[in-house]
Amino acid sequence: MERFLFIIECIAAVLVAVPFLIVVGGVCRALMLVIWTFYDALVEEEALYPVPIVVEPARKMFAFDGGWRVIGYVTQLLPARVHESALNWLEAYETVQYAAWSRPWLAPFAWLAMLGLQIAARIQYVIAALAALLFVAIHALILTVWAFALLLALGLVLPLRFCWNVLHYYFFPCPYCYQPIARPVHVCPTCRAKHTRLRPDLYGILTHRCRSCRHLLPTLDMLGRKRLGRLCPSCEHSLSGAIGRGASVHIALVGASAAGKTSYIVQAMGALSEKYREWYRLGFTDQEQEKHFKQAIDQLRHGRAMATVTTTVPVPYVLHMQPSRLSASRLIYLYDPIGKTFTNSEYMSRQEYYRYTHGVLLCIDASALVSGGELPVMQAYEHMMELFEIFAGLRGGRRYRQAIAVVVTKANQPQLSDELGSAARMTLMQQDASAISQGEAMHQLARAFLCAHGLDNVARDLESHFEHVRYFSCEALEGSTEKDGVALSVLEPLEWLLAHARAIPR
Ligand SMILES: [Zn+2]
Ligand SMILES: [Zn+2]
Repeated sequence: MERFLFIIECIAAVLVAVPFLIVVGGVCRALMLVIWTFYDALVEEEALYPVPIVVEPARKMFAFDGGWRVIGYVTQLLPARVHESALNWLEAYETVQYAAWSRPWLAPFAWLAMLGLQIAARIQYVIAALAALLFVAIHALILTVWAFALLLALGLVLPLRFCWNVLHYYFFPCPYCYQPIARPVHVCPTCRAKHTRLRPDLYGILTHRCRSCRHLLPTLDMLGRKRLGRLCPSCEHSLSGAIGRGASVHIALVGASAAGKTSYIVQAMGALSEKYREWYRLGFTDQEQEKHFKQAIDQLRHGRAMATVTTTVPVPYVLHMQPSRLSASRLIYLYDPIGKTFTNSEYMSRQEYYRYTHGVLLCIDASALVSGGELPVMQAYEHMMELFEIFAGLRGGRRYRQAIAVVVTKANQPQLSDELGSAARMTLMQQDASAISQGEAMHQLARAFLCAHGLDNVARDLESHFEHVRYFSCEALEGSTEKDGVALSVLEPLEWLLAHARAIPR
């Protein structure tokens, strides 16, 4: 009897276990599908971040973008996966049904298995829906808390960054297209992607992750952003590291063709770097320019003629100056346009740097003037005034605040020594009490020289339009040997302009 009962119990256990185990299998399959789909959503980021259509090649922070897309991805993919799985279980049901029909002795077990398979196929939908709901709720909660924490951190970083910018931001235009640059484009060092908004924001607080190469780019200069390559957002020309890292001072050269502008500025820059060589920083921001400058100086020293400037849109020489480690640094932009700019109106509109100009070096060739060449000087002067009117604008009857250094170049001709030479200066200092220094005597002599050679109108007009005008004569000449006296007289006009723009101490 006991044995009979045991057999009955065993048969009952098997009868219950067959459908029960199949249903448990269905539940496990549903849970597995949910976990698998979530895992895919989290790991397969490429599926969540399709080909970028936005300009910024960075990934937004997970809590603000990818994290929420996970939910969309799961809700899109999970029903299809569960449905496919349920169909597989129903296929198994049909196979078992066929087995029961072909082998009648299997029928009792087969019917139980079929019952289990039917329940398991349908229960997968319910279990997957419940589990997904739970996962999504927990995921959304974590994302919300995470996003709030990030916003709080961003709220702390942004005011600090603002204060830093107030202290360290310098207005600067692009040396190549003259457009003001508010935010340069940063270049990813790995894939060269152009990041237009590399700063703390929803793409990342301290770093942005490059979308294509996953490189982490710092968002603040103090974290290493300043070591990244930069481009001008307007013309996409590469900007050297020093540009924008100091207040910029813009000085334009004006003069007719062959007035000696380029040889003057090259010698003046040479004298400047010689005089201030003790400074913490004094050099070109661009290595190519430095090379070009050294070649030009070499040519002048060996008495060879310098190559004339050919560009109508001058790329300025940019000098980075910083007297000591703790003092503010300055970037001096020196624009040397082609002489034709001042005789041909079609080049006028391209001289947009006049918007920023702090000072002008007006070069006048003394030897040409003596032989009756005042017309090109007057043309150059008139075009300069037009440029000021177009780009700087008249200021309600007030004089322009930009400083004008009028430089009489090539003044070392023997026939000019009576008018501009050092002996004439000494004589003036002895005779006239107002000529209290060599510089003052030079100012008076150079002005008198211009007036004596038909430029008295220009001198008067200049003084009525500009608050600060000073006259210089200098012996800069192609092929001249550089003596201390020469170098100093070359430097004086540039030094006066730089001091006026507070780029060097007065
Ligand atoms: Zn990259
Ligand atoms: Zn540019």
